[in-house]
Parts: sequence; structure tokens; C-alpha cells
Amino acid sequence: MSEHKRTRLPGTGKSVKRACLSCGMQHQEAAPEIADRAQDPVCIKCDSPMFSLSDGSTLTVDIAHHHETVVKALDKFELVLNQVWQQSHAENMRLIVGGGLIRDAVLAELFFKKSRGTVLDYSEENRGAVLIRIR
Ligand SMILES: [Zn+2]
Repeated sequence: MSEHKRTRLPGTGKSVKRACLSCGMQHQEAAPEIADRAQDPVCIKCDSPMFSLSDGSTLTVDIAHHHETVVKALDKFELVLNQVWQQSHAENMRLIVGGGLIRDAVLAELFFKKSRGTVLDYSEENRGAVLIRIR
């Protein structure tokens, strides 16, 4: 596995500093987007996957309370979903969606993302918040 060659995926040029959750070794990784989660690079020291291990935490992000349009809120959702994937080890993301059109659009998008395996599961915590399991 130490000779493992990393192919660069389109659109994943940005590299991030990342510590292996299992052994703590620091890496500078080209960060795959969550949609490409199947191509999870492994730690060169201990072979643990670099992005899919979870620390059990939940991060909360509000995408609906700054007068966002539905389109803007969906853009923000894509952005934070990738950020949480690339920059944390969180198990869940709690998305504050409000009770209106943004919520409906996000739920439709999540149905699609779950069917593709991009997110593992999701549930409505209450009218205004969706809990999304990403690891
Ligand atoms: Zn490691």
C-alpha cells in the first residue's frame, strides 16, 4: 500500500492539512469532494481511510436565516457539506433549514444524495432542522 499512487480527480485540486484520526500523522491531502467519497485516500502510516473515519461529533450549520433564496441556500448546502467532509471528522451535520421552501428543496436534494450514497442517512429532527449522517 505504500506505493499507492494517488490519481488527481477533476475539481479536487485544493489540498488540505489533515491528521489521520487513527494514528495522528499529519498529511497534506488533495481533498476529494464528498460525492467522490469512494476514492478515500489512506494514511501512509497506518492505512486508515483519511476522510471516512468518524469522531462521533455533530456540526450544526444554518443555511436558512440570512435571507437566502432557495438557490443560494442549496449552493451553501453543497459548500458546507464538502467543507464538513474535507475539514472535519464529524459523524453528523445538523442543517438548520427553516420551515419553508428551503427545507423542501434540501429534503429533495438529500433524497437524491442518499440514493447515490453521497450521504449515509438523514432525518428531520424537527420542522426546522435536518440531521444528516455523513460518516
Ligand atoms: Zn494513520
